[in-house]
Amino acid sequence: MAADSLGYKAGEIAKVLFNLSSRYFLFAGLFYLFFYVWKNRKYWYAKIQERYPENKHILREILYSMLTMLVFGIIIILVIKAGKNGLTKVYDHIDQYGYAYFIFSILLMIFMHDTYFYWTHRVLHWKPLFKIAHKTHHLSTNPTPFAAYAFHPVEAVVEVGIIPLIAFTIPFHMAALGIFSGYAILLNVIGHLGFELFPKGFTTNRLFKWHNTSTHHNMHHRLVKCNYGLYFNIWDRLMKTNHPEYENSFDNVVEKRRQGKLSPGTQLRKVRG
Ligand SMILES: [Zn+2]
Ligand SMILES: [Zn+2]
Repeated sequence: MAADSLGYKAGEIAKVLFNLSSRYFLFAGLFYLFFYVWKNRKYWYAKIQERYPENKHILREILYSMLTMLVFGIIIILVIKAGKNGLTKVYDHIDQYGYAYFIFSILLMIFMHDTYFYWTHRVLHWKPLFKIAHKTHHLSTNPTPFAAYAFHPVEAVVEVGIIPLIAFTIPFHMAALGIFSGYAILLNVIGHLGFELFPKGFTTNRLFKWHNTSTHHNMHHRLVKCNYGLYFNIWDRLMKTNHPEYENSFDNVVEKRRQGKLSPGTQLRKVRG
């Protein structure tokens, strides 16, 4: 009986860790392979910083991300356990709240996460805490997609905190949480991509300027004390924490990309370091 229960628990832990790591390696891995290996010459002109990070930094990003997934896994299993004991607001059938709420709950999770991330990120930049918990993430001054989960374990606990926050406060279906988690890793990987893919005028458009770009988070890694937001550019605008050169930097990358497209080869400089 005890052995059965132990086996079941081990199976459950393995399942959660497999889900987390397969998603991370799928998203981060595919974007990395495409932009840094397979098409690195073709898309070099869209690189935000004109150099590639050293391999030792990429390896560090992967190793810390694996540690993060272990921390995420432990917290997620505790939340699942709490759900099985009726302590969370999880519900089993979409009909219970309807499809409109199902979609609304995903949007709510995204906005909750955006606010949660901005403010916890600001706290993580408080000097004493920065040294302990957040400096690890900032070792990537020229991040690659693998930096998506490259956190100190203390920061990993903070980052995964959004899951219990959702689970204990809003009614949610597991499928909605799954879609939200997929969105979160995809946008996280794009934020650390190191290449700007968004179109010209994105940061000045009346609507799109409220959404972040890869350049935005790349500047956070390079310049540190600015651009704290995650998905949206709402809190950074409200709190005036966007870097004053954000829009210009985005325009410069987009212009470099345009010229590179017109005359491929002229922008082709591969510098490691
Ligand atoms: Zn930071
Ligand atoms: Zn980052």
